[in-house]
Parts: sequence; C-alpha cells; structure tokens
Amino acid sequence: MSSRLRCVWMISMALLLAGGILPAQPILFSYPVGTVIIDPGHGGRDPGAVGTYTDEQGQIHEVYEKDVTLAIAEVAAEAVRVCYPDIDVVLTRDDDTYLSLGARTSLANSIPYREGHSKVFISVHVNASSVKSASGFEIWKLESDHVKDFYTALLRESGLVHITERLNTELNEELDHMNGILAEHMVSALEISLPEAVRNRGIKESQFYVLTYAHMPAVLVETGFMSHEQELAQLVTPLYQEQLGYALASGIAAHIEALR
Ligand SMILES: [Zn+2]
Repeated sequence: MSSRLRCVWMISMALLLAGGILPAQPILFSYPVGTVIIDPGHGGRDPGAVGTYTDEQGQIHEVYEKDVTLAIAEVAAEAVRVCYPDIDVVLTRDDDTYLSLGARTSLANSIPYREGHSKVFISVHVNASSVKSASGFEIWKLESDHVKDFYTALLRESGLVHITERLNTELNEELDHMNGILAEHMVSALEISLPEAVRNRGIKESQFYVLTYAHMPAVLVETGFMSHEQELAQLVTPLYQEQLGYALASGIAAHIEALR
C-alpha cells in the first residue's frame, strides 16, 4: 500500500474512532495536538523482558523487549509523520541506547508547547508474565486520583507561566479526563487493527514512572506478551511489528482528529 493510500485509510479509521466528550473550556491538555512523543521502552544495557522461541527448524532464538519496542515505535512515528506533516513527532530514542525513565519524561516535558497546542506521550512496551498462557495487549493510564503539582512542573519545564495561574485542581482534572480519552482511542485502535485472535485486556491504571512524571496526557501500551511462545513468535515478525505500529498510529490519529 502506498503511504498516501495508507494515510487515507488511517485517517478515515481515526475519524470513526475519534470520540469522547471534550472539556467545554480547554485549558491545555485538550488543545489540538501539536507534538506526539513516542517512547520505545528500554534500550542499551536495559534489554527489558527477554523471551525465547523455537522456530520451525527447531532453532532457539533469544528476543529482547528493547528491539521489539523500537521496531514498533519507529513504524508508528513514521506513520504519524507522513499522515500529519504539521504535527511534530519525537522518538525518545531511535537506536539501541540506554535512557533512564527520568531522561524519557524530562525529554518529553522539556519540548516547548506550540502555541495553542497540546502534547501526548505514548510509551511502547512488551509484557512478560510467569503465567505462560497470558497474552494480548493492554493500555495503562495514570491512576485517576493521582494529583500532580503543575505549578512547579509546568513553570520549570515549559515556561508556561500563564497556565499556572489556573487552579492546580483544574489542570489535574483536565489531565485525568484526557488520559482517559487517549487510552480509549488507543484501546479501540488496537482492537480494530489487530487480528481477532489477539486478546484485548483493556485499560488499566497504575503509577508507572513515565505516566506519573510525563506532565501531559500519557499512556503506556503493552503490545503483547514475550512470555507467551506463540505471541512472541508473532511479535518478532516485521509484518506484525508493522501492524502494531500502524495500530498505535491509528490510535494517535484518532486522538488528533478528536481534538482538531
Ligand atoms: Zn517494558
């Protein structure tokens, strides 16, 4: 499929998926998307989850989460870039380098807001479990009752002095609301884009570091399980990595369209 045709397909799907009730009076996080930050989990000396699978020739292969997340994230970033040339797309890493969790969120937070625009943060991971039968994808968002201190955060990181004049509670409410909408867009895009056999484990809440310290709507996507042998064999194929990348890009596109 040509990249133009793929954009037409992706944007029409995004328009179908775009939804959620937006705040009547946007403060910041529900402004039109100006910047998309995609964060391939792990890298360098941190391999993430390690899985093994046996191919049809009986050969055993070791797979690192960091390689799978990078491959998926690169497809997603390129798809958003091609389809939305007016939006800035940033990868926290585009090669096999180590980045601390703090470096990932600092990078995302330090990107200046484009006037009248919002930023979103998508972290890409692959799951692992001691329960070998566990499979499928899930979307994590920050716990709803988590309260951030935007007075110091936004002032220090982005110079958004005028924003801090708003009540901290208003900003927290808008962020929580938009976290929910972003998570919905991602889960429905993956559900519709991936093969029916891939299990949808839904939206979950946590206080994962990147969700807590990225001061913008953020989700962490667990794209599948390295500990599930068949799923891992699928996750290492460029075809499925591409499918996952486009699925993520479609979720991001749904979010972009919802806020246009
Ligand atoms: Zn991970």
